[in-house]
Amino acid sequence: MSEKGFNLKFAAMESIRKAAILTIGDELMIGQIVDTNSAWISAYLDSQGWLVARKMGVPDQVDEIIEGMQLCLASADLLIMTGGLGPTNDDLTVDALCQFFNCEKVWHEETWQRFVEILQRFNREPTDAYKSQCYQPEAAEILPNKHGSAPGTLFRRDNKIVVSLPGVPNEMKYILEHQVMPRVPKGDAGQHRVIRTAGEGETILAEKIKDIEDALPPEIKLAYLPNFSKVTLRLSARGTQHRDALDHYEAQIKARLGHLVYGTGDVSLSQSIGTILRERGETLGTAESCTGGYIAHRITSVPGSSEYYLGSVIPYAYELKTALLDISSETLYAHGAVSEHVILQMATHAREKLGASWVVATSGIAGPGGATPHKPVGTIWIACAGPKKTKTRLLKLTRDRHSNIEYASVAALVLLRQMLLEEA
Ligand code: ATP
Ligand code: MG
Repeated sequence: MSEKGFNLKFAAMESIRKAAILTIGDELMIGQIVDTNSAWISAYLDSQGWLVARKMGVPDQVDEIIEGMQLCLASADLLIMTGGLGPTNDDLTVDALCQFFNCEKVWHEETWQRFVEILQRFNREPTDAYKSQCYQPEAAEILPNKHGSAPGTLFRRDNKIVVSLPGVPNEMKYILEHQVMPRVPKGDAGQHRVIRTAGEGETILAEKIKDIEDALPPEIKLAYLPNFSKVTLRLSARGTQHRDALDHYEAQIKARLGHLVYGTGDVSLSQSIGTILRERGETLGTAESCTGGYIAHRITSVPGSSEYYLGSVIPYAYELKTALLDISSETLYAHGAVSEHVILQMATHAREKLGASWVVATSGIAGPGGATPHKPVGTIWIACAGPKKTKTRLLKLTRDRHSNIEYASVAALVLLRQMLLEEA
């Protein structure tokens, strides 16, 4: 199909529905809890044809909530707020809503009945203390909460919709999906194609696909999302009319990047490796020092990994390197555990002992301590031993401990995948 054949009409900007998200809570502002609500709401609204144009967080304070609402509504027609609906004095969202919509709090009998029902289930008395949560803004449409006590509320003003939902994630999700969405118009859903690559950085990838990227029509956006030695490419457009065009460009990019692409959509690197091993009837083992079992964890997180994954040796101490993997103490003391000599032996000896077709191994200084004059923190050897050969790589990382471990485990899996493809 020629590119001209695609229906690539550029959606007029004014036809795009814009939404905003306002999350409320002191705990969010001090980083005590991570705001997962806004990430979930963003993805959900995108799938419902709403473009999230603003995201904001504010503390439990009436004036801050009102200012946040004003700022959000300046650039959106739909505002989703979460949090601050609880019964305690620090939950002030209802007060802020009443002030914003210039209305009173009024008794809501159904909310009270819901309380009574929940309390009876737990054999508790419905005391007056629970009554404070039953007053709702008079101007609101009440959205029942099947999973909790505080209902959501919906307001309409000047062709805009404001929704206030509980902060508790499963309650928020239920009300948004089942109570809010049927009440708001739907737009053109975001369409995405996700291409997962490993082995090259984003600059090299961008160079390889420059002509394809330059030829993209304006309504299709390409994003690069690097994460350690993996880069995810995302092609996005709004509206189902772009599906064919997205498929076309996805296929072009995949063909151009070849083996660098390990999958599309939600697939993980460990999953893609598992698929190759399963197809070939080959097996995998791991010998991990500095990654401490993290590679094994990634592999075994994939359902069905027992079909190809045999197991792991984690010889952290010198003595165990000798006892479990027959690495001679002469080699260890002459070259150190973090050396090409040792990583080669770790990979090849583990391959023999585990009886696996493939073994990946790691040995390095994850930090922050443990550096020597010739081996700074981040010096990590990785190796992969296969049926025909063994390859090693030296990583010189400069990150914190956790990131070094993460990076080394991805790099080891990338090396394994490269060798699997070479020895196909
Ligand atoms: P409830 O009526 O159940 O008390 P609420 O609206 O008062 O709900 P909050 O008291 O603000 O909600 O938060 C309740 C819990 O919900 C918090 O302890 C937190 O664990 C979770 N929560 C709140 N906001 C968020 C958020 N933005 N992302 C993830 N979790 C959140
Ligand atoms: Mg709160």
